[in-house]
Amino acid sequence: MIDELTISSDKTLLDVLKVIQGNGKGIAFLLDNEGKLKGILTDGDIRRALLAGFGLQEIAENVMNRDFVSVNYSDSSESAMSKLDQRVRIIPILDKAGRMKDYYEFKSEIHLPVAIPELGEKELKYLVDAFLSTWISSSGKYIELFEQKFSSFCDCQYGAAVSNGTVALHLALKTLGIKEGDEVIVPDLTFVATINTVLYCNATPVIVDVEKDSWCIDPHEIEKAVTPRTKAIIPVHLYGQPCNMDQIMDIAKRKDLFVIEDCAEAHGACYKGRKVGSFGEIGCFSFYGNKVITTGEGGMCVTNSSELNEQMRILRDHGMSKRKKYWHDLIGYNYRMTNLQAAIGVAQVERIDEILSERKKIETNYRKELKDIDFLEFQKDDLPNRNKITWLVSALVNRHNRDSYIVHLSSKGLETRPFFYSLGSMDIYKKYLFSNKNSLSISSRGINFPTFCSIKEIKKEWFYV
Ligand SMILES: *Cc1c(COP(=O)(O)O)cnc(C)c1O
Repeated sequence: MIDELTISSDKTLLDVLKVIQGNGKGIAFLLDNEGKLKGILTDGDIRRALLAGFGLQEIAENVMNRDFVSVNYSDSSESAMSKLDQRVRIIPILDKAGRMKDYYEFKSEIHLPVAIPELGEKELKYLVDAFLSTWISSSGKYIELFEQKFSSFCDCQYGAAVSNGTVALHLALKTLGIKEGDEVIVPDLTFVATINTVLYCNATPVIVDVEKDSWCIDPHEIEKAVTPRTKAIIPVHLYGQPCNMDQIMDIAKRKDLFVIEDCAEAHGACYKGRKVGSFGEIGCFSFYGNKVITTGEGGMCVTNSSELNEQMRILRDHGMSKRKKYWHDLIGYNYRMTNLQAAIGVAQVERIDEILSERKKIETNYRKELKDIDFLEFQKDDLPNRNKITWLVSALVNRHNRDSYIVHLSSKGLETRPFFYSLGSMDIYKKYLFSNKNSLSISSRGINFPTFCSIKEIKKEWFYV
């Protein structure tokens, strides 16, 4: 691969020009006879040399640019990335001896983003219908319809649609009366909204480690972290994988704790044949643009308790009494979803089974195509009792530096995501850390691949290093 970019520095400018012409990248890397990188020449450099009076038979070494940007294998990909820009489009990667081994290339054009929302004619039709009805705010037929359809998809009786997944979690915690002095157990490996919403309630989050195999909150660690102040657990069904709900519900029962499921990444995932979101008191979903289904921004709290449902509806709407307008017994919020969002949501939930099976096909294809790439360890999909769904195809990068791998893939036009950072490793959350051994290792190796229904093809060769 690097052959087309390199040439011996004792060759002539004409030879170098031929290399540049051949690789189409506007640059050649000049090596000594041991393969060490000595200088570079761009087509611009050669033009300037010719104008300065050098001939095409001039030895490249005499005019080459010795002041070039390079990185070592051991450098973090972030430092390499920071050197790449519109001007420096290719950065050579050198081994310890200074030999050129590979290169990073800046590509402004990403062919495959991590996510594209799956929007079709039905979404447009319902959206236009909501628009034409003039019910574009938070009243209108689509909101209730969306609540009914989505909660029933989750094996739940009730659903309260809200403006995003973060406020769904906050609303759930508030509805269950979580307040200052209470402790709420959260996993170390999750999106930051999980812990922030606990802090919004002035309660104390307790961060515990995840299971090695599922990457989800470890029930043994929950058990160890429970204190007399513990009031709730927020299991997060991470990257489409359901948590070990039997053990979590057992602890909750014995210790009298609420369970609020963070299902933002796991619409339709099942544990023992039952949908996530239906195990705890309240299940919280997100319909952000990159989630399994989307309403742009949006969320929902699902529950089987009519009382909790009523309370959530009051808190969602400024705490306004249902019997007396503009009478407030509680300090509430404006966490409502609009009818426009719900219209898109109804179309999405009507297609959710189709969307999920399409996503699953994409994941199966990744696993098949990349099965020979032995440094990639895909998320477990055969854990007992658990039926994961495909949110973002996820894997651990073993033996290679994950961040460098991300840069490598971006040079092939693939956008990927590193896993979440361990919450406990961030300064602002450190003081809430109980345990995070597995999560640190998983977090530093994990990567999410582009996953969306309209993905055309993935090529095995992009993924080799
Ligand atoms: C996306 C997400 C949220 C928050 O949802 P928003 O709709 O973006 O506010 C919460 N928890 C997890 C695990 C998420 O992935």
